[in-house]
Amino acid sequence: MVQQQISPKSSSQQEQPEKVYLPRTSESEILKKIRHTASHVMAMAVQKLFPKAQVTIGPWIENGFYYDFDNPEPFTDKDLKAIYKEMVKIINRKLPVVREEVSREEAERRIKEIKEPYKLEILSDIKEEPITIYHLGEQWWDLCGGPHVENTGELNPKAIDLESVAGAYWRGDETKAQLQRIYATAWETPEQLAEYKRRKEEALRRDHRKLGKELGLFIFSDLVGPGLPLWTPKGTLLRTLLEDFLKQEQLKRGYLPVVTPHIARVDLFKVSGHWQKYKEDMFPIMAEDEEAAAHEQGFVLKPMNCPFHIQIYKSELRSYRELPMRLAEFGTVYRYEQSGELGGLTRVRGFTVDDSHLFVTPEQLDSEFLNVVDLILSVFGKLQLKNFKARLSFRDPASDKYIGSDEAWEKAQGAIRRAVEQLGMEHFEGIGEAAFYGPKLDFIFRDALEREWQLGTVQVDYNLPERFDLEYVAEDGSRKRPVMIHRAPFGSLERLIGILIEEYAGDFPLWLAPVQARLLPVGDAQLDYAKDVVAKMRDFGIRAEVDVSGDRLGKLIRNAEKEKIPVMAVVGAKEVETNSLSIRTRTSGELGTVPVSEVLDKMKQAIANYDNL
Ligand SMILES: [Zn+2]
Ligand SMILES: [Zn+2]
Repeated sequence: MVQQQISPKSSSQQEQPEKVYLPRTSESEILKKIRHTASHVMAMAVQKLFPKAQVTIGPWIENGFYYDFDNPEPFTDKDLKAIYKEMVKIINRKLPVVREEVSREEAERRIKEIKEPYKLEILSDIKEEPITIYHLGEQWWDLCGGPHVENTGELNPKAIDLESVAGAYWRGDETKAQLQRIYATAWETPEQLAEYKRRKEEALRRDHRKLGKELGLFIFSDLVGPGLPLWTPKGTLLRTLLEDFLKQEQLKRGYLPVVTPHIARVDLFKVSGHWQKYKEDMFPIMAEDEEAAAHEQGFVLKPMNCPFHIQIYKSELRSYRELPMRLAEFGTVYRYEQSGELGGLTRVRGFTVDDSHLFVTPEQLDSEFLNVVDLILSVFGKLQLKNFKARLSFRDPASDKYIGSDEAWEKAQGAIRRAVEQLGMEHFEGIGEAAFYGPKLDFIFRDALEREWQLGTVQVDYNLPERFDLEYVAEDGSRKRPVMIHRAPFGSLERLIGILIEEYAGDFPLWLAPVQARLLPVGDAQLDYAKDVVAKMRDFGIRAEVDVSGDRLGKLIRNAEKEKIPVMAVVGAKEVETNSLSIRTRTSGELGTVPVSEVLDKMKQAIANYDNL
């Protein structure tokens, strides 16, 4: 199609609204003040309308704030509207927010006077004196540390939204009182609120749990357990495509595939240090009897693959000629995440790491590290992920959660810094983000909704070679210690797929789509032709299928759209006659009637180039 000439005045750049930046509460002093104050205003409004409501706590959260109330009845949507109206009145009265310092005894006296038992408990948690009280005008006050705006008039009612109500227990303890939690948000400007709502809606539309179900990629089962996804045929195909893609890349780069078991003696993890430093995150020991259990003997599910690969390295005396040795496995590991933390694919209890461990001489470290980064960048490119930065995840020298000497840490951190500087990559430091055995270079990806996710990682490790007493025979015949690089471009396959689903909003690039083309015959008369074309496509390595439902064309198209099939090929009498297909794609719309041979060539080429049609 020929694009109409666009005059410079109406260029899309000018029409596009300016990008609204949404800081998190922790990043913004003004948002802290606004949200703190808004939560007090909300509590005051609730107590005005519901005199029986008792206030408890109302902290800010990263995108807003909440307040927990003890109220005989749950709040309804109608109540929320009324509360909001009351808040607007309080804001319009421009009540001064006044700080007062009182003694513990005085605070206690005042709390008893207004009969608010929760506040007494809160007071007993406050260790420092004096106690600070904040007043909204003359009639309402709360215990609080601040900060706040100076008067309620500084809040913009059009930038406040009461979002939802949920049940919550006092102190998160289900044996205690059931409270009503109102989630709300407040911003500096109505534009920020509008952008926040837009992103919330978009996040819902892209939610991988919802899309994963609609696209038939994975399921969860209560009987199997939380955090343990089951991959259905289409999802399995997607996983396999990603695995095969990386395996091919790795073979080209001299990686050696290995397979290791899912369980091992706990002793393996005692030597590696995982048991000492990482026990809380592991599933408990499978001990054969009580005696074994008492001595912490038995098998555990592996939380990491490293010690297994180390055993393979160590199974023979290695020569410098064999190095670098790059052992690679799609290894499934198990971690005991708290069930409250589990949600969809981004946090699971069993997941597959595209793990590899490189055993290198100290002299090879820098160049091997660069090779790994190069592989990761190439993988991201093919996945069409562009928006990421590198984080230098170093240890926090003040913490005792790390193993190894200061010297080893300095050397490892130095290697990472040199690599990043040599590549001129955009980066930032994350102190305290290192693994317990070594520093990492992490790739932090920012998605379409400006949320951050950790994807690939590379780690330099002088410690595990030490703990497992690894050696190689150097050129001069002496025994030397190799350095290890741990790396995983995808990170976890589960997490990556969750992120990809959301980033693509379910529209996978052609090379990754489980079904790449669907043929839509207008009637039964075209069925045989459609099947023939599908057979040809499959010969070409294209994943194609025919919709044999016999539904009307409109419905066939709607279903294919819903399932986000990249290429739809309508087959009517004319197409059969001319040996062609009427092509419609997700990314480019109608392409018109195209000869079958041309469709095959174009698709094959697009797939090979990791491109869309
Ligand atoms: Zn406050
Ligand atoms: Zn490792």
